[in-house]
Amino acid sequence: MNPFRYARPSSPSAAFTDFAGERRARYVAGGTNILDLMKIEVESPPLLIDINALALASIEVTGDAIHVGALARLTDVAENEQVRTHLPLVAIALEESASPQLRNMATIGGNLLQRTRCPYFRDTATPCNKRAPKSGCGALGGELRREAVLGTSEHCIATHASDLAVALAALDATVHVTGLSGNREIALHDFYRLPGDTPHVETSLGPGELIVAVSLPLLSYGARSTYLKVRDRAQYDFALASAAVALDLSGKTIRQARVALGGVATIPWRSLQAEALLRNAAASRDTFERAADAALAEARGRGGNDYKIPLAKRTLVRALEIAAA
Ligand SMILES: Cc1cc2nc3c(=O)[nH]c(=O)nc-3n(C[C@H](O)[C@H](O)[C@H](O)COP(=O)(O)OP(=O)(O)OC[C@H]3O[C@@H](n4cnc5c(N)ncnc54)[C@H](O)[C@@H]3O)c2cc1C
Ligand code: SF4
Repeated sequence: MNPFRYARPSSPSAAFTDFAGERRARYVAGGTNILDLMKIEVESPPLLIDINALALASIEVTGDAIHVGALARLTDVAENEQVRTHLPLVAIALEESASPQLRNMATIGGNLLQRTRCPYFRDTATPCNKRAPKSGCGALGGELRREAVLGTSEHCIATHASDLAVALAALDATVHVTGLSGNREIALHDFYRLPGDTPHVETSLGPGELIVAVSLPLLSYGARSTYLKVRDRAQYDFALASAAVALDLSGKTIRQARVALGGVATIPWRSLQAEALLRNAAASRDTFERAADAALAEARGRGGNDYKIPLAKRTLVRALEIAAA
């Protein structure tokens, strides 16, 4: 690991001011991703800014949202009574993430900004446009099993790794950030950026901008929601395919629906096409299958990851059946 300086500011403004003095700095929260990447020299920040002294760990209901501080640990959010009652898709997505030890350390802000698990991104001996812009993509023409089928480009096909972000995409949560230009709120659908020809630019955060909180809207039908994750191992593994869904039912008719997919796309993937198909339709297997076809209509496999398209469809159908039951 390369030598680095360390700072532990006591306010958000001190944190982003430290960052302004060293544009290649990185924040560290739980450290479960950034320290890992530093050890394998994928990241080599000259300055590590530890944000754990900031008062950003509260979880509170304010108006029509649950306001979660960026430093709230995954375990604390998953166990929060309001989250479990009103937004089970969030609690399940968190419980299905990583391991208990990691969930005790990892934070909400860090989870949303974790980097891809694409093996070529993590191997500095191979080209990777995300790690080293314009160096090429080792995955294209390489091992594709875990790579994405939605939202890809000719420059990057890496899957987004966060489970939580998929649930937040279904809810269209709001990310609250602060930085040298002030405070702002970013809707989740504007937060993540498709790879295009700049896969190293992953979010709409500016340099040094700090996530301070995430608002989870108390969707009126959020209690009828779930998150279903399919992976190689039953525990402690990233998704091959996942689905976050919420259904508003009137008898057997769907009034409204929310649908997002994980494990198959370069960003947490909300499917407005599936939601439109579900709206005002009968809550039946036939409807769910048509919604799954719509959600994956634009998916493109490249051989080794073709299996993800039928897998994601089946995952979504099953998630909708669970939510409807
Ligand atoms: C073995 C293993 C298995 C895992 N399995 C899963 C899984 O199944 N599902 C899943 O979703 N995740 C999984 N993870 C990933 C894990 O959830 C993330 O590493 C963790 O959530 C990151 O949070 P952190 O607080 O530790 O982030 P850190 O490592 O501290 O930071 C991650 C990134 O976010 C930035 N950052 C952190 N906080 C802020 C902030 N407030 N504002 C701005 N920037 C910030 C950092 O600079 C860094 O770039 C796994 C990780 C491991 C090691
Ligand atoms: S898919 Fe993306 S992250 Fe993986 S090697 Fe290619 S450019 Fe890098």
